[in-house]
Amino acid sequence: MLKKSLKNINVLRGTRVFVRADLNAPLDKQDPTKITDDTRVRSIIPTIKHLQECGARIILASHAGRPKGKINEDMRLKPMGDRLSELLGDTEVQVLNDCIGDDVKSATDFMLPKDIVLLENLRFYPGEEKNEEDFAENLAKSTGAEIYVNDAFGTAHRAHASTAGITQHVDTCVAGFLMEKELKFLYGALDNNPKRPFTAVVGGAKVSTKITVLEKLLDKCDNIILGGGMIFTFYKAKGLTELGSSLIENDYVDTAKQIFEKANEKNVNLLLPNDIVLGDAFDANANSKIINVGEAIPENWMGLDIGPESITTFNDCLANSETVVWNGPMGVFEFEQFSKGTYAMADALANVTDNGGVTVIGGGDSVAAVEQSGLASRMSHISTGGGASLELLEGKVLPGVDALDD
Ligand code: AMP
Repeated sequence: MLKKSLKNINVLRGTRVFVRADLNAPLDKQDPTKITDDTRVRSIIPTIKHLQECGARIILASHAGRPKGKINEDMRLKPMGDRLSELLGDTEVQVLNDCIGDDVKSATDFMLPKDIVLLENLRFYPGEEKNEEDFAENLAKSTGAEIYVNDAFGTAHRAHASTAGITQHVDTCVAGFLMEKELKFLYGALDNNPKRPFTAVVGGAKVSTKITVLEKLLDKCDNIILGGGMIFTFYKAKGLTELGSSLIENDYVDTAKQIFEKANEKNVNLLLPNDIVLGDAFDANANSKIINVGEAIPENWMGLDIGPESITTFNDCLANSETVVWNGPMGVFEFEQFSKGTYAMADALANVTDNGGVTVIGGGDSVAAVEQSGLASRMSHISTGGGASLELLEGKVLPGVDALDD
């Protein structure tokens, strides 16, 4: 899916550019004026700097939290605007108290080239999430937007007024630099002749949330490595019964059988762990032991990580891969003693990148694991959008991407 990007258009001096950003940075629970992680604020900087170099008038819009269509004092965008001013250094971001209406109109009318205005939380209006036509039109009219830039990949899977509806009211609608990078890697990995062997690593808690992505990956990959809580449903599909209190989705046992059949038909090498680390409770301090798959798991014990032999087998597969997409941890990595499998995969992926391969971390908990492992800078791309990246990998068309100019 080829979409027009900011770099494909000529932004003239003085043009009003509406930038849909994702500034939904986590705030301190005790003090909601403090940002605890400014990654999202930082990620918009390349797009802003480029627009400033063009002399554009920049109107930033974002949501924060879930205010459900009402003003919520703890979800104002002021902290994000202040942080942005600090990061830019030479520009004071003007934070408005509203995102539509007369005040917005007069503030944006008086902007000079390179000025930046940040609108108030879009979700203070119910029309945002409902993608109401009037609200979308009002956003475009109040700001006088001449060019629309979407750089909010994390919300691109939602058809909201600021991600979809507004594009009906602005002539030129393009992807910002962050959005462009996400699309390049996530579409690129799946649909744009990935370098082979192409391996997917899929983990996480449940089969049910990963089934569509697994089906899509079966059409594309040479190898699929499975880990996490979902493997126990696959073991059950293979006929194993003594699985203790491991996570099993009985409604998905047949689906798991179909995945085995499809992998066979399509000649995809589906790798399941051959040993696992058990815990006697879902707890950081649980007693643990390693067993081979096939041995009975005692009642009250559960599989919480992949074992050392599996790590070796998976490492060998990854060492021979040229493209790797990873979604979902191999075990309960939040508990140190069950984190080895996940961190070993992070390590193996970092080596793939070092050796010239392409590695894409497709959002969600695997992003947190990679960040915590300290290996983030050695991945080709770490997606900023959990839900959005999963939907892209599933092959879905994201409304916020679809709405942009081809
Ligand atoms: P997901 O959002 O589906 O990618 O799932 C991520 C969550 O799966 C993490 O919080 C992990 O702790 C959890 N998880 C991984 N392996 C297991 C397991 N063997 N049993 C239970 N939960 C797991």
